[in-house]
Amino acid sequence: MKAVAVFPRTRELKLIDVEEPHIDRPTEVKIRMLEVGICGTDKEICRFEYGTPPEGSDYLIIGHESLGEVVEVGPEVTNLKAGDLVVTMVRRPCAHPECRPCQAGHQDFCSTGDFAERGIKGRHGFMAEYAVDEAEYMHVVAPACRDVGVLVEPLTIATKALTQALKVLQRLPWFDPDQLDMVNQIRQVGSRGGKTYHALVLGAGAVGLLGAMALRTVGFDTYVYDRQPAPNPRSQLVESIGGHYIGEEALHDFQHLIGEIELVYEATGASQLAFRAVKVLAPNSIFIFTGVPSLGAASELDTDIIMRNAVLYNQVIMGTVNAGKEAFALAIRGLGISMALWPTAAQSLVTGRYPLHAYRELLLGQPSGIKNVLSFTTMPS
Ligand code: BGC
Repeated sequence: MKAVAVFPRTRELKLIDVEEPHIDRPTEVKIRMLEVGICGTDKEICRFEYGTPPEGSDYLIIGHESLGEVVEVGPEVTNLKAGDLVVTMVRRPCAHPECRPCQAGHQDFCSTGDFAERGIKGRHGFMAEYAVDEAEYMHVVAPACRDVGVLVEPLTIATKALTQALKVLQRLPWFDPDQLDMVNQIRQVGSRGGKTYHALVLGAGAVGLLGAMALRTVGFDTYVYDRQPAPNPRSQLVESIGGHYIGEEALHDFQHLIGEIELVYEATGASQLAFRAVKVLAPNSIFIFTGVPSLGAASELDTDIIMRNAVLYNQVIMGTVNAGKEAFALAIRGLGISMALWPTAAQSLVTGRYPLHAYRELLLGQPSGIKNVLSFTTMPS
């Protein structure tokens, strides 16, 4: 089968022919790949700044934002059948018995750093015609979400962040968790006591826009900040989901523009911008980092004001990486809600579908569009 792989030692990115994977264990499932999304992490791997091939392999098949169709299931698989659309999780647990998160199936909180990630670290990914994995890592997507299923993995960044934010919000004395399910609990936060809660998303890339969609879904009055002036396709998308777009404004004007910001969702990977935004946090609020910056030169920070505000106003600054089963389930649900509320907006996040042979320009070229996808069902032109 064909697959896209990086060879770190020789610094090459190639379309390779490899043997099709097959089911070895009774709990495994084989999928035919339909689509694989391309993100900043893939591009970093292709620049050889990130990524590790499996042990003993001189190459790594990349790709972690996947949508596949089940073609075969092992004899012990009862929850999946041929024809199901599935999204496969990325991270696999480390082998250390003392790593409590991995032992408990919460490898997104792995404490040793020895986890593996498909298409990123130690395990081949999904930019290949077929893949095999354990059924427990696969999540079914409804046929109605076929066109947006490839967005599930990047959306899990937001749904994990929101579930974490919810736990932090539960520390507030006036937050009253009830018996509702997760979406409704989060939604309740957004409209607590008639108060409108404000969220600020930094960056209108795919992660930022999906974050904005998730925040809107659960009721936050959502602002998205990006360098690009409005109007542009991203600002239009933000407005079509009932959000507000801020282009070009200086960060110190945010408070004046928005009022109190209870939650900042960072999706730029730009640390200096992010830390400037930490300064505009409201009392009792949360700042969530999701972007992974490349390591550059050290820069000066206004540490006094950041620490002073954090203490005097009970602020929480946190990071989040990867996503567990709960976040995947919530992302699939959230995507369904988004498709019902704003079908055009959700679909317009995928700005380009390209055949496999376009992999080089997509992975090495200048970014254009919001989310580019390699489609294994698009015939080469
Ligand atoms: C992926 C995550 C992964 C992270 C760090 C992101 O691009 O979506 O699944 O944990 O990179 O490798």
